Amino acid sequence: MISVADAQAHILAQVATVAPPQIVPLTGALGRVLAEDLRAPIDVPPTDNSAVDGYAVAHVDLAAGARTDFTVVGELAAGGVFAGAIARGQALRIMTGAPMPAGADTVYPQEVVERRGDRITVGAIDRGANTRARGEDVRAGSVVLPAGSVLRPQELGVAASLGLPQILVRQRPRVAVFSTGDEVVEPGDARKPGQIYDSNRFSLQGLVEAAGGVVTDYGIVPDLHEVLHARLTEAARASDIVLTSGGVSVGDYDLVKAVLQEAGGIDFWQVAMQPGRPLAVGRIGAAHFFGLPGNPVASMLTFSLFVRPALWKLAGRRELFPPRFHAVATEAMRKKTGRREFKRGILSYAGDHWEVRTTGPQGSGILSSMAQADCFIVIEEERGDVAAGERVWVEAFQ
Ligand code: AMP
Ligand code: MG
Repeated sequence: MISVADAQAHILAQVATVAPPQIVPLTGALGRVLAEDLRAPIDVPPTDNSAVDGYAVAHVDLAAGARTDFTVVGELAAGGVFAGAIARGQALRIMTGAPMPAGADTVYPQEVVERRGDRITVGAIDRGANTRARGEDVRAGSVVLPAGSVLRPQELGVAASLGLPQILVRQRPRVAVFSTGDEVVEPGDARKPGQIYDSNRFSLQGLVEAAGGVVTDYGIVPDLHEVLHARLTEAARASDIVLTSGGVSVGDYDLVKAVLQEAGGIDFWQVAMQPGRPLAVGRIGAAHFFGLPGNPVASMLTFSLFVRPALWKLAGRRELFPPRFHAVATEAMRKKTGRREFKRGILSYAGDHWEVRTTGPQGSGILSSMAQADCFIVIEEERGDVAAGERVWVEAFQ
């Protein structure tokens, strides 16, 4: 038996490379991983400018003579530049985003000004009020986004604000996905008695794509030694990661083990967890191999715990694990000490804290529990049964 944490550490230690970089247009960069520190080539904003529609003045004018009126000497829209300079007693009508004219440092919002003809009457104001300083958002030369950041909508906007139309990201890891087992048939095909529809390939493909990988679908491989061996080797040549589900437990027809022992470099682990004990991990050629358990909940869970961090490391991400937080269990939960257990949970907010309950029956074949759930409830190795009202860790799916 190996602990979840040790299994994760062993796996991550095996991932020594990072996917090569690639330039993509910003418009196609959502969810991609930044390949290098992004340094700002310019100040943002590039000039001091007005934060409101109003009137730009020199604050010194107010301080000196307690002046309360100014002559409006011109008007400046966003996108323009004022050619002259503001002299004593003068104000410039200015729009939001327009560069501050020379000689002015303070802007009156139009709402607080009384205007008659080309004269305005004003009250007291702080120096620099309603202006935005050059470089207050981003300073030229600073690292705005560190390498390994996942590009969210706001990161795309930040890159665009620096004038960049494209960005250097990591190539998406290529992931081959297989199902194994003579009992498993393709949805849409005729199902004979004793057969079940393949679900793992579909949930695993979704998990790979959601984690930023590109899937190649290798279909269902029958429980035949030669076929499995040939397909796995072929997939490994064209992929960074090869994933199978099923065939890693101790049943008579569990061929994945036998085939892989031949390929070499594969470890078979019994992980101290529930669900999802058996796991095969190693290499086929240059590809990382993961043989996940066949039970549908176990295959999704072991992907999340063991494959996704490896995929994220390969993809160059800085953060390899999703955040965890505490919730109060609203029901008692059975738990065996000595292993980490994962229940499917439903979160709700109770005014000032999160609460969580299970989805009901927790068998590792009950895939609909994953559809009802919005989190995993994570109960650590040393804990036993959980009573209602106790705190537990949760890991939200989103
Ligand atoms: P195995 O690990 O091959 O012994 O499979 C364990 C359980 O998972 C069995 O009940 C299998 O029928 C089921 N199973 C295996 N592969 C799949 C799959 N691709 N989709 C749905 N269930 C599967
Ligand atoms: Mg099987």
